[in-house]
Amino acid sequence: MKNWGDLSPSEKDKIIKEYKNGKTAPDIAKEKGISLTSMRTPLHREHRKADHGGARKNSGNKKGVEFCPTCRKKVGNCSHTKKD
Ligand SMILES: [Zn+2]
Repeated sequence: MKNWGDLSPSEKDKIIKEYKNGKTAPDIAKEKGISLTSMRTPLHREHRKADHGGARKNSGNKKGVEFCPTCRKKVGNCSHTKKD
């Protein structure tokens, strides 16, 4: 198993693109044989638009907003929680 830090810049770039195109970190880790814990933080850093209510400006969680326990998108905005 490889760590994120073992990858070349072009490999990282490719993975970041796949991640942005909708693949999840666990999927990529499994597919490429990379330690998930080693890539989670760098990938997250590259994906600031993700709906996680993280370090973005004005991103505070408003009261009453619920997030999907599976993918952390707002409830109703993802396939796990979509109401018809
Ligand atoms: Zn979801």
